[in-house]
Amino acid sequence: HEEPRVVLSARGLTKSFGAFAAVKDVDLDVQDAQVHALIGPNGAGKTTVFNLLTKFLQPTGGTITLMGKDITRTPADKVARMGLVRSFQISAVFPHLTVLDNVRVALQRPGGLSTQFWLPLASLERLNARADELIEAVGLKRERNALAADLSYGRKRVLEIATTLALDPKVLLLDEPMAGMGQEDIGTISGIIGEVAKTRAVLMVEHNLSVVADICHRVTVLQRGEILAEGDYKTVAQDERVRLAYMGT
Ligand code: ADP
Repeated sequence: HEEPRVVLSARGLTKSFGAFAAVKDVDLDVQDAQVHALIGPNGAGKTTVFNLLTKFLQPTGGTITLMGKDITRTPADKVARMGLVRSFQISAVFPHLTVLDNVRVALQRPGGLSTQFWLPLASLERLNARADELIEAVGLKRERNALAADLSYGRKRVLEIATTLALDPKVLLLDEPMAGMGQEDIGTISGIIGEVAKTRAVLMVEHNLSVVADICHRVTVLQRGEILAEGDYKTVAQDERVRLAYMGT
């Protein structure tokens, strides 16, 4: 039995905009090989927490640690290269490129398989093999040679996730990955997230509570910038304060 490994953690995380504290004294531990959900009503501070963790915003107070290293003062691009990747950062899908070429481009971004612009033949073969591996892993094999523009909305989001995975993140932050999706795509993305979380940590903001119940190991509930509850979904869903504040029952 191994101790759970905390890969991303925040202590006393605080962000004020003028006199208004959007995030107040938040402690968060994201563990390897887990899907961790961040939920809470609109304005609770979820986006601000994501922006703080990825260093898009500088905290007013508190500390952030990524795999044991203090990243409180580390710039966003460096944090991304250290393995903390947020989906939208690199989610640009090029509509006029095929699925395969989108993944190949992603693999050649800084932090991807290679940062070289020119690749020797051996590396090109490796690049193509890795691209096909990723395409297969997310179930886009049939659409491999289709233009991204011709994919359905749901399949485009799947392609976005594939391009994110090209960076080989250690901690993957997903902002409402199921937004605007039908049941079938939700099932597909849930499966991919579950697969991804076998070997890395996933932190996601998600409004669809049945998805949270299905795939998230741990749930943190925010309200007015503060942590209201934390635990597995069942525990959190039964919490009186959560029901009152969030679920309205
Ligand atoms: P959520 O993602 O949970 O809906 P946000 O993190 O977007 O919540 O926002 C939390 C609170 O902080 C909201 O009241 C919002 O209006 C406020 N806020 C967010 N960003 C800023 C900003 N740049 N300046 C002032 N207030 C902000």
